[in-house]
Formats: sequence, structure tokens, C-alpha cells
Amino acid sequence: MEQITLHEPFFRPLPLGSIRPQGWLARQLRIQADGLGGHLDEFWPDIKDSRWFGGEAEGWERAPYWLDGVIPLAFLLDDDALKAKVTRYCDYIITHQAEDGWLGPEQMVWTAGQSPTPLRNYDIWAQFLILKALVQYGDATGDPRVAPAVERCLRRIEQHIDGAPLFNWGSFRWFESLIAVYWLWEQASRNRDQESGVSGQWLADLAVKLHAQGFNWSDFFRRWPLTEPTPKKQWTYMGHVVNNAMAVKAGALWWRLTGDEADRAAVYDMIGKLDRYHGMVTGMFTGDECLAGKRPTQGTELCAVVEYAYSMEVLLSILGDPIFGDRLEKVVFNALPATFSPDMWAHQYDQQVNQAECSILPDRPWNTNGADANIFGLEPNYGCCTANLTQGWPKFAAQLWMRTQDGGLAAVAYAPSRVEIVVDGAPVTVSLETDYPFRETLRFVVSTERPVRFPLLLRIPGWTTGCRLKVEGEHAASPEAGAFHRVDREWRGTTELVLTLPMAPALLSGYNGAVAIERGPLVYALKIGEEWRRTNADLPLRELPHADWEVHPTTPWNYALTVSAATVTQDVVFAEHPLGDCPFSPDGAPVSATVKGRRVPAWIMENGSPADGPLSPIVSTEPLEELTLIPYGCTNLRITEFPVS
Ligand SMILES: [Zn+2]
Repeated sequence: MEQITLHEPFFRPLPLGSIRPQGWLARQLRIQADGLGGHLDEFWPDIKDSRWFGGEAEGWERAPYWLDGVIPLAFLLDDDALKAKVTRYCDYIITHQAEDGWLGPEQMVWTAGQSPTPLRNYDIWAQFLILKALVQYGDATGDPRVAPAVERCLRRIEQHIDGAPLFNWGSFRWFESLIAVYWLWEQASRNRDQESGVSGQWLADLAVKLHAQGFNWSDFFRRWPLTEPTPKKQWTYMGHVVNNAMAVKAGALWWRLTGDEADRAAVYDMIGKLDRYHGMVTGMFTGDECLAGKRPTQGTELCAVVEYAYSMEVLLSILGDPIFGDRLEKVVFNALPATFSPDMWAHQYDQQVNQAECSILPDRPWNTNGADANIFGLEPNYGCCTANLTQGWPKFAAQLWMRTQDGGLAAVAYAPSRVEIVVDGAPVTVSLETDYPFRETLRFVVSTERPVRFPLLLRIPGWTTGCRLKVEGEHAASPEAGAFHRVDREWRGTTELVLTLPMAPALLSGYNGAVAIERGPLVYALKIGEEWRRTNADLPLRELPHADWEVHPTTPWNYALTVSAATVTQDVVFAEHPLGDCPFSPDGAPVSATVKGRRVPAWIMENGSPADGPLSPIVSTEPLEELTLIPYGCTNLRITEFPVS
């Protein structure tokens, strides 16, 4: 019988630990480890007392969400205390696996805010999630218990869904299970000399069964009815913002089994439609918490931001299209940092592109999110994001570099980092020294102990023009934008490459004729004075440093800009500032822009959000002022889409 195989991903991610964050990225991961993400298990009951670790609190998705991000965080930072922590938790889960293969709390299942559910009614999504976390632990540690634990759990899942077919989250997120299915498949084929007992045929059959029971996103998008903002009280799984952020990768994951071009095309179809009807200038789409249209005040959920970034990383790997790298950077450099306080001790549930006040108010325009959804705090609106927030930065750092099918190395997204690989038995180190995305220059240093030949692929973003590459001081052929540039040579000793990615300002069009300013991978927003006010101090667990905060504006926000597409390069003037310890903060912004504009008195606040702006172009008799914009990711309050005058 013919051996069934998986289609190769275009790029293969490197094992956790091969990439080391440097410079600002290392500092950012440290901020996360010193903030909520690294400390949740010390005081937040849904992790500290999770049933996953033998406690009495929530026992469904929260501990797996947290582990999914804190595992890569610990190994990227090589932080002994954090590594000991995640080892203890993973060890508990592996050693408490049930005889029948079930991972975590069994028989009766506890979900936040709900009464215990009999296992038959258990939403199996959390099993997919814990497997996705555990395979990272297996990669990082080489712990030989992980593959058998994953195998036994997958066999248990197969048995479970025969009796209780996928429904709700398990159905709409079925493809997340493929991460572990393919991981085990590749482990088994790598170790085929040893008797593993795991066959590709069994795993393929399991994948087909999951696919058949799961929601078919590709079919749904072919006749997609969700082009309008979701009406109030019409929450659905298919319109759910996080489900959509996860599901954009479903077609690519499924393609690895089918090899069908239509499965790859489904990815582009889905992203194109989400952009067109719900897309934001940050590269995200709205959802509060279902798809919410183009209005810049609807906002999007933190879980959607980290899941969309992860989807882009998976798409980059499987499909190898550089546009997913452009999108990944846009989301990670803008929407991700914006939704945290600079110290990462507080986060929002819902971030708005035009966000002039973060406060608890009853009549927000959101369709299902609660009155507190946009404050910065411990668990505004709902605690999923509190647990899931860990995955954003670490997964990004772990996927900056990938291997090519011909033994080379690809830089798929850019941030200061160092990567170690082995080529033909020779250890090779490549480091990237850069303050990108706040600067245009990237300096790569390739070091090898003995001469080796391999291709180095550099992603050239679609937004750059006039990109230059120097190899050992000599100008190389001009790299083409929107493609991977290939440097195929024999590397000896130490070789320096300097890539310059010129960033020119551009106008993006927004809602109601509004505009936003983009330059390179960064979107710029008005810097608004902030007053942080403690709130919910009477609620449990809201003591410092994990308190809840409202943020109120202390300076005007209702401006129209004097800019045009034809003159934008003269209209907006950029200035660089030193890159400090906390670049994603209003005062630490490493770059700013000045632009002229006028107040628009008729543009007022409505229920805590800027009302729909007047239609552009508008006439204002207010005096012309010089305004300061900073990168969107550095702001907590902001106007990003402006009317023009
Ligand atoms: Zn969430």
C-alpha cells in the first residue's frame, strides 16, 4: 500500500530555543515575563488553582491558553525560574494523564461561570489547545514522554468524537487539532526505525474525521453572508472575531493533507473578505465580539490579535508568501502592543482604532462586549484574554527565522535576534542587529566555523521602494519588493549584510472618507495626554500591580488633518528619538511625526467614543496647529483615522 505523506510546508519553523531575541525584542519579552504573563499563576485563581494543576478553579481553556504562550516565553528568554515553572506544570499534566489518554480534569468539566458539565457535553476545544501547548514543550525539551502523551490523547479524542461529535468551539476550531496531529505524524516518520506504533494512515483518518465533523470555513466563505456589522444580540460562532482570526489558517493546514489548490486559495478568499468588510488600518479586523464593520470605534478583541498573528506565522510557514510576513509585522508592531499598558500588567479586551477614552460606561456601541471592555485591567469583560495574552510576543519571536526546503535559512519577519542552525554538519550563527521597525537599517552577520554553501532568504516588504542590500560592503543586485530576496553563496568566516528598507509615508483610507498615516510597518496615531484612574478597586485581586484602570484624555483629540495623498511626503515630518527600555509607550516612542491640523468642534464624544466623524473634506475655521503623532503601538489613547480638511 502506498505510504500516505503530508505535503511539505514552504518554510519549516525552527525548534524552540534556536532563535534568541536580542535588543528591544528581548527587553519586550522581559517586560512580559515581569508583568501579568509571567506572574498569573501566582495569584489568578483560574491558573493558580486550575483543575489542570490539581486545584478547584476553572479547568477548561484558561490554563492551556496560558501555557501556550508562557512555554515559548520561558525557553526564548532561557529564564531558569520560568522554565522551572512551566516544567512543573507540564510535568503535572503529563503524569496525571488518565489511563484512557484524557488530559486534564475528566468526567466532569468546569468552565468559568458555568456549572460543571458531564463529559459527554464537554467542548473538546481545550484538548486541542493543551496539545498545541504541549508539543512546544516537547520541542523545547526533547522530553520523551510528550509524544506518547500526545498520541494517547489523540486516540482518546477520536473515541470521544465518535460518541459526542464536535460542537460549538470544538467544531469551529477543529483545525487547531491539526497542529498536534501533524507534529506527531512528523515525529513518527522521523523515528520510523524505532517501533513507534503511530501510522500516518491513522493520523490521516483522524484528521479526515475531525474535518468532516468541524465547521467548513472555506465553504462558508464561498457564500459568505456576514458583510454587515453584526446586529446587537446576534452573537454567532461563525461571526466570532477570534474564531475567524484562527480560521484563516484552516485552508493551509488542510492543504498539507489534501494538496488541493482550492484549500490554499480559500485562505486568500477569507482574508480578502474580512479586510474588505471589517478590516482596520492596523491589519486586524473588527469584532466586539462578532464581526463589526469598518467603524474605527468598534474595536477588536486581544485574543483575536494574538490568534491572527499566530495564523500569519502558520501561513508564512506553509504557504511561504511574503505578504503574510508584512501582515504579521503590521499586527505585531501595532495592534499587539497597543492593547497592553506599557508595563504589560494590564490589558484591554477590546481595543479601538479611534480610542479617546477607556472607561466603564453602559451604552457602548459594542454588540455584545460589556461596559468595561476597553479599560486596561486584569480581566476586563471576560478572562480569556488574560490567559491568552501570553502567546503574542513569544510566538512572534520564535518564528522570525525558518528553514527553506533546500537547506537554507529565511528571515520571514524582522526584529533583533540571533539564530543558530547546522548546515552540512557545520554550526552557523546569523544575528540581526537592528532597531527595526523604528529604523530602516538591518545589519545581518553570518558566522560559520568552516565554509558552507546555503541560501539566505530575506523578505522584502511590499511597502518599500528603493530597497538596497550590501554584502561585505558591496552593493548587491537590487532586491524586489514583495518577494523573498535570495543570497546564495558560500559563506566563510564572518559576513556582513546591510539591508536598507526605505519607509515613506502613505495615506490609508478609512471609514467615512477618513485617512490614516502609515510608514513602513507602522501606523501613526495622535498622541493624546492621558490620566490613568484606578477603578474597580473594591473587586478582588485588583491590588497593584494588577489593578484596573480607566484612561481619560487630558488634551484635545478632535482634529482634522491637512494632508493629501499627493503631498503626504512633505505634509508629515518624522523625527527619531533614542530607543529606550520601553519603546511601546507614549513617552518612549522611538519615532514621532508632526503634521498640521485643525480642531473640529462638531466632532464630539458619544458614550465614551468619538462619534462618527464628519464627512471629509470638512471646513474648519479653527486655527492651524502642529500635531504630534506616534506609532499606534506606543499609544494608549489615540486617534488613527482622521477627517481631512
Ligand atoms: Zn479573549
